[in-house]
Amino acid sequence: MRDCAVERRCATAMLAVQDPGVQRTRQHGSQSRGTQGLMMLTLWDILKPKPKPRTVQKSPGGRDARPTVRVASKAKAPTSRAAAEYLRVEREMLARYGVRVRKWRSHTSGVAWEITYRDGSISRLIESPRPRGPVSAAIFLHEIGHHAIGFRRYKPRCLEEYHAWRFALDEMERQGLNITPRVRKRVRDALQYAIAKAQRRGLRTVPPEVAACIAEQDRLLAQPVSASKSASIKASGSNG
Ligand SMILES: [Zn+2]
Repeated sequence: MRDCAVERRCATAMLAVQDPGVQRTRQHGSQSRGTQGLMMLTLWDILKPKPKPRTVQKSPGGRDARPTVRVASKAKAPTSRAAAEYLRVEREMLARYGVRVRKWRSHTSGVAWEITYRDGSISRLIESPRPRGPVSAAIFLHEIGHHAIGFRRYKPRCLEEYHAWRFALDEMERQGLNITPRVRKRVRDALQYAIAKAQRRGLRTVPPEVAACIAEQDRLLAQPVSASKSASIKASGSNG
């Protein structure tokens, strides 16, 4: 797992799993066990409660493939229109990109990674705050964005970070979510952090898209706050 550098907070990772334990876990419950495997499973079943059925199904292929991951959501019924909208966006994004939430985080940091198995199947995973306000939604969409744009597609890493944030901002706009000054500050600070980190590692030229995005956030932050669009969702929850 490597740091993805949204401050000390966001990390992305690309794991090529060779660990036999992971492979075994993956195979557990599949239809392709040999006789020996079935025998072991039977003995295991005697000793242990039967494992719950896996909620992750194999994805048929590349990043653009239709998702086949089902996400079990324990969300309570939303109590407001804003909560319902955030829940709708959460479910839509997870389904569209076939991403599974390993853990909802209680603080504003996130991580995205994928696991490639020997059979070529891929698990796409994130940890993120649950989208309940503008900032948590931005971080959630940023992590989804890493999967949407694809790992290792953009170099240097600060450019990959930019594209994940670009995805988050564009998606917030498209979904009618409120892009607050706190969101813009978060994007700017994250990109500045990513640039500083890249420069420490030898980056000489800041990609123009990244510099332009920081300037854009600064410009918008300097503008007087206008009334929120009527279609916008007002901040709710503690992450707004
Ligand atoms: Zn990131």
